[in-house]
Parts: sequence; structure tokens; C-alpha cells
Amino acid sequence: MIKRSQFIKNTVLGLSGALLLAACNGGDQPAAAPEADGAASSAAGDTWTVGTEPAFPPFESQGDGGELVGFDIDLMEAIGERAGATVEFQSLPFDGLIPSLQTGAIDAAISGMTITEEREQTVDFSRPYFRAGLAIAVAEDDEAIKTLSDLENKAIAVQIGTTGANQAADIPGAEVSTFDSAPLALQELSNGNVDAVINDAPVTLDAINSGNIPGVKVVGELLTEEYYGIALPSDSPNIEAINTALDELIEDGTYAEIYEKWFGTEPEGELPESAL
Ligand code: GLN
Repeated sequence: MIKRSQFIKNTVLGLSGALLLAACNGGDQPAAAPEADGAASSAAGDTWTVGTEPAFPPFESQGDGGELVGFDIDLMEAIGERAGATVEFQSLPFDGLIPSLQTGAIDAAISGMTITEEREQTVDFSRPYFRAGLAIAVAEDDEAIKTLSDLENKAIAVQIGTTGANQAADIPGAEVSTFDSAPLALQELSNGNVDAVINDAPVTLDAINSGNIPGVKVVGELLTEEYYGIALPSDSPNIEAINTALDELIEDGTYAEIYEKWFGTEPEGELPESAL
């Protein structure tokens, strides 16, 4: 289990961080133009502050100059462009994104975030924009762990606040250690300090293929099928503009272009219109 006290601590920390950000942002956020009233679904001229946790390549990471790069970054820029809104990214811890949406410190979050029923209770999601799933990673020479049940009583590293952390919490006897980012959890495995990592397959595979996490392999089937969505505050006026832009980008091939740039292949199959 992720310890509840740890969960609460992180949520509260995330929340106070968000409040701090909200306070700092107060000065330079332009007030909504009055004519925006009554045109709730039109984003023209708006600036969207979009939160992301940039340690999740190939979805979001920092380039050599510290600039944000990745599939999510390109997709969000394209959505903004299509909707006539300016996108300003804000880097936040993953477990601070939902609290920041709730306080209104950010207008949206794109961060490889799985659409889940639990999250839907506090935020809204765009239509699904990516099909992913959880995978188990182990040491390259590990022949014992192949499935979820092999993880009972094992040491598992996960990223805090993620679907991978939830999955690990349900494994009997597992000793789960939580990290602030997926690369840190994978590094722990590479260092031989844990038996396995449960994390989003595309991110684990990217870390292995890029050579960043040596001595690690993925085993077995995907544990889950998950869909990523852009998270928005409940009743956000921007949801229609974002969904319309996403639909258009998927239809006109822009989405496929961005996909190929980051994954080297064409997108497989069609995305469903809703995830749950
Ligand atoms: N897809 C996972 C989740 O939503 C992990 C996301 C992330 O770490 N950026 O929980």
C-alpha cells in the first residue's frame, strides 16, 4: 500500500504548492476579456496555463536547454494553435497536478495522465488521446518474475500518485517504495535496490531503448489498458475547444505526424471517443 499518511502528505504538499503558485501567478495573469463571456466554447485569444511533470519521456521531458519537449508538448501546442489559444506550460510534480486544477492555478494538465474513475470525481478529462498500459520491469537477468502474481512479497518501486502505484498497492505482501518520478523508480531497479517497477509501458520502454536505464527489461503482457486524457478543472469552459481541436488533429493527420515523430511508427488502431 502507499501509506495513507504519505498520500495525504503529498496531496497537502501539492495543494500548498498550488496555492503558492496561484498566489505568485496573480500578478501576471491577464484578466479574462469581458467579451469571453457568452462565448464559453471559443478559446480565441485565451492563454492556457498547462501543467505537466516533465520527467516522463517520450511524453514530456526537458531538452538540453531546459525547454519542454515530447509528444504531449507538441500535441498541446497543436491543440492551442488550432483553438486559437496560447499555451504556457508550467512544470509541477505529478501528484500536484490535480490539486492545482482544483484550485484553478492551472487551466489544464497534460502529463501522460490516465483517465480513471477516481480522478473523474475531481477533474474532467478531454477525449482520450493516447492508448497506454502498465508494464512490469525487472532486472535483465531475472528469470523468476513474469506476471503480476510473481510480485507477491517482492520489493517494487513506483512513481507516487500514479496508476502503477495503485496497482502495486494491491499486491499481497509487496514492499512498495514510491518516487517522485518514473526515471527515479526505474533507476532504483537498475541499481539493484528493488525487484521490479510498475510503470507505463511506453515510458519504461523509452527509458530502456534510450540506454538511460541499463540492465532492465520488460516482462509479460501489459497489465492494463489505459487511455491518457488532458485533465481540466470540473466545468472548464475550455473542454469543448480542446475536444474539437483534438478531433480535428486526429482526423487531418496532424496527430499521426506528432505520433510518428515521437514513436517512429504510425498510431495503431483508432482511439475510442471515451475511455470509461
Ligand atoms: N499514466 C500514469 C497515471 O496517470 C502515470 C502518469 C505519469 O507519471 N506522468 O497515473
